[in-house]
Amino acid sequence: MIAMSKLASLNPATGELLREIDTTPTDALPEYFRKAREAQMRWSALPIRKRAAALTSLREVMLDQIDQIAELISLENGKPRFEALANELLPAIELLTYFARISPHALQDEPIPMGLMKHRQSELTYWPLGTVAVISPWNYPFLLPFGEIVMAITTGNAVIFKPSEITWQIGLKIQELFELAGYPTDLLQTIFGDGSLGSALIEQKPAKIFFTGSVATGKKIMAAAALHLIPVNLELGGKDAMIVLGDADLDYATSAALWGGFSNSGQVCASVERIIVHESIVQDFTRLLLEKVTKLRQGNSADQQNDLGVITLDRQKQIYEAQLTQAKAQGAEILCGGIFSDDRRSLQPTIITGPKIEELDVYNEETFGPVVAITTFRSVQQAIEKANQSKYGLLASVITKNLSLAHYIAKQLEVGTVTINEVVYTAGLPETPWGGVKNSGFGKKHSARGLQEFVNVRHIHRPRSMLFVFKSPWWFPYTEFQYATFRKLFDLYRRSLTARIKAFPLLIWNFVQFIKKEKRL
Ligand code: NAD
Repeated sequence: MIAMSKLASLNPATGELLREIDTTPTDALPEYFRKAREAQMRWSALPIRKRAAALTSLREVMLDQIDQIAELISLENGKPRFEALANELLPAIELLTYFARISPHALQDEPIPMGLMKHRQSELTYWPLGTVAVISPWNYPFLLPFGEIVMAITTGNAVIFKPSEITWQIGLKIQELFELAGYPTDLLQTIFGDGSLGSALIEQKPAKIFFTGSVATGKKIMAAAALHLIPVNLELGGKDAMIVLGDADLDYATSAALWGGFSNSGQVCASVERIIVHESIVQDFTRLLLEKVTKLRQGNSADQQNDLGVITLDRQKQIYEAQLTQAKAQGAEILCGGIFSDDRRSLQPTIITGPKIEELDVYNEETFGPVVAITTFRSVQQAIEKANQSKYGLLASVITKNLSLAHYIAKQLEVGTVTINEVVYTAGLPETPWGGVKNSGFGKKHSARGLQEFVNVRHIHRPRSMLFVFKSPWWFPYTEFQYATFRKLFDLYRRSLTARIKAFPLLIWNFVQFIKKEKRL
């Protein structure tokens, strides 16, 4: 692939050219890394308390521009302005607040309780990775990279950020916010280009790659990273299941399915794409969901009355059409939507079902568009099996009035997150970990646990006091006495308390001999 010299930002609703920017030449990347390294050395020398405090300045700068940022996200990505506000910017503000508060505590040195070696102490200390790469998609073009950048920088790293080539203006906006908030120059550097620039970025050997995007690209990134042994964090696609139990409130369940399936026009990694409904209620559920779908207003995101914006790019239309063409040919029932039009952007919300639905791509492959596929189950066990019959494992939801049954089901689901009587939204909760299993990737972000993805862990092991510094009994030379003493140690692991107590006097005596008489080399 030849790198483009200009990158266009288009309004997906109209195709209008919004702005152009020069692509970043790949031969400029070494200089980006050099500058990042210098900035990172100075930044990481600051105590984490100060680095975390900087987040409140960033929050203030953002709060001053909330409406403009929401407008830009809506314009460049095509989602309704309300979705930009509620689903990207509010979680981003919450994320800043959360990490400003918890980062200093989350990365404090951590003592490890010792077992056999009670005379020694261990602790974990954390240190930054260095210069990391953040490579992100276009569907949540603000929140996803912003969260990773905030976590990376607060933990003392520098970031080279490659936003999606589709939504690079929003990437540039993130860069501007950090600059306005007074972060050191070069700590965050944004580069502009397509996948070829992304792969050139990996060749510069960042300390870690935080990638969010498709499975296909995730595999390429992991293969390229493997050549340099670069660790990767992969947030990939999903085919998320919603299980609706027989006791569910139908009005609630259908509203959850409606928003879960069609917000951001279904272009959400955690979208509800498969609905598994108890057979006793499937007819009523489907009828009510259909009624609600017909009331959704769809169109240009500039019109604030619309519930669905436009899909962001042509590629999504091709997937939608290919899956629905196959489904039609296999006799699936398309209950609404599913109409292909020349207008490349408006894909109507589509509900699809039928006896063979579980065999079709529309049920098994990520659509990433406004399509939900409905199937049924008879027993709870069958619902669990059907939900787990997927190569993806990002999120699943359970809708029921029976919270304990929902919890039982949740613990059987092979996914990174289960929401009970909620859908989709926990990637917007900074205090909860986010990340999938299976083809949905690996590694967690958000939460105190997620912060650890951005640091190296250093284990420090030392004597409790200088009184306990003596040559270790396992050092050279090996002797019969040494063997007999160590052999006695095994008695400490016996189930019998008497056996354990009996071992003690000899062990203590022998170890004293070690220290006094059995000279180590
Ligand atoms: P994509 O994989 O096409 O692109 C993502 C990013 O990778 C872009 O910036 C792109 O330029 C870059 N890229 C492409 N080829 C590359 C290469 N060879 N080396 C390095 N970088 C490369 O994905 P997309 O279409 O932008 O996003 C949609 C996908 O993202 C969906 O599959 C969706 O499920 C997934 N996604 C996952 C999550 C999650 O949290 N799990 C969140 C959002 C989106």
